[in-house]
Amino acid sequence: MTIRSDAYIDGKWRSAAARFDVLNPATQEVIARVPDLGAGETEEAVAAAHRAWPAWAAKTAKERAQVLRAWYDLMMADIDRLARLITMEGGKPLAEAKGEAAYGASFAEWFGEEAKRAYGRTIPTTTASRRYVTLKQPIGVCAAVTPWNFPMAMITRKAAPALAAGCTMVLKPPSQTPLTALALVELAERAGVPAGVFSVVTTKSHTGAVGKVFCESPLVRKFTFTGSTEIGKKLGAACVGSTVKRVSLELGGNAPLIVLADADLDKAVKGAIASKFRNAGQTCVCANRILVEDAIYDEFSKKLADAVSKLKVGDGQAEGVEIGPLIDKHAIEKVEAMVGEALASGAVALTGGKKHAAGAQFYTPTVLANVTRDMRVNTEEIFGPVAPLIRFKSEDEAIAIANDTEYGLAGYFFSRDVNRCWRVAEKLEYGMVSINEGVFSNEVIPFGGMKESGLGREGGVEGLEEYLETKFMNFGGF
Ligand code: NAP
Repeated sequence: MTIRSDAYIDGKWRSAAARFDVLNPATQEVIARVPDLGAGETEEAVAAAHRAWPAWAAKTAKERAQVLRAWYDLMMADIDRLARLITMEGGKPLAEAKGEAAYGASFAEWFGEEAKRAYGRTIPTTTASRRYVTLKQPIGVCAAVTPWNFPMAMITRKAAPALAAGCTMVLKPPSQTPLTALALVELAERAGVPAGVFSVVTTKSHTGAVGKVFCESPLVRKFTFTGSTEIGKKLGAACVGSTVKRVSLELGGNAPLIVLADADLDKAVKGAIASKFRNAGQTCVCANRILVEDAIYDEFSKKLADAVSKLKVGDGQAEGVEIGPLIDKHAIEKVEAMVGEALASGAVALTGGKKHAAGAQFYTPTVLANVTRDMRVNTEEIFGPVAPLIRFKSEDEAIAIANDTEYGLAGYFFSRDVNRCWRVAEKLEYGMVSINEGVFSNEVIPFGGMKESGLGREGGVEGLEEYLETKFMNFGGF
């Protein structure tokens, strides 16, 4: 399998003497060594993006759509290699990685088409001698920073709308999973994306220096980030404080999954597993905590624990594996600490509750009963295969527990009562609410959060807006 391991700046592959290791989280083996670039190379990439912008923006939306379509076709044709790379460096099971690759590619198809409809408006005038119109124009150079948990889709969800709108982009991929990013830019080059329009700067020791250029360069007009709330707040503040650039933030979550007494319990168990255990619990929209109504608590816990105890754990590259490793040593330590604290405070492990024999970074899929609201497994993002169950007695109590967090990304609930579905969905303070289903992401929906889960939306019509300026024009004096 071809693995690209150099960075890509201004249409050229860039090597460097200083390189860092990319590890397979299942085995800790080194897969490749990637350039450890810094502020100088980032400034070069930004300057190239700035030079490339006018010609790219001057193309018609249809011309850019043809390039994006070619990129989509190349990604789909190369889906097996992309999926294997995602699994090798990110750890998720191959079937999930294939799903991510198709999901990731879909943004190129969708936004290429959608940019053809970046309509302005005519506004009825207030004065007889004037006419008012608005025009949608690309923002300009965009800088992007993405996380390791979706090595492909978090990139295309930003790069596709940016390029479709007529912007250019410099990406800093995560240090744990830069190889998928490099494969993507290789395919973008083959699709006809011109030099400078999409560059990838890899870095590990100079992450802060690269981030500083992104936030402070006056040539960068937009900064788009997906990652933790802590880092997102810091970088967002730096962008506004230095150069008042447009900022999009896709940050952490603490998703509740509520099972109401009238729910179809088998469907709820299936949904809870799909939501909680995808990518071993390492997604921002993973159900972090499961709230269960008193009347069905025992029955639901038993069904869930039975199903969870059967999940197959192992190297994501092996056939039939459903739960891969956690991304690194810190991740496994954090999960161990959170479960340990919960057990010490009265929670009970119905299944799991400890590391898994498959390797140093594997954790056994776990269901914790008797969890209380003050435990960290309820208040913080776990990012591991651990389902804490919290008992509630009324719909209002469930909504209060669900909303009692600084996060507001995704929320889920299960009920067969249509009135209740509307009532609960409207009261949940979450950017995305999924009813009776544990998985919902795709390219046509506005993905994003309320509260400290972020600013802006990715995907859908809204995702294109994030890369467009609205210019107002007054035609006067006639
Ligand atoms: P993270 O630690 O915030 O890192 C995210 C990215 O920021 C990485 O590329 C990281 O680079 C980079 N970074 C860190 N410090 C930086 C700095 N000073 N300047 C520039 N870049 C910097 O988050 P993570 O652990 O990778 O990802 C997990 C988090 O992402 C979770 O909280 C999850 O909920 C969230 N997430 C949100 C969404 C969403 O759509 N809302 C989607 C996926 C994930 P290095 O790799 O070099 O550290």
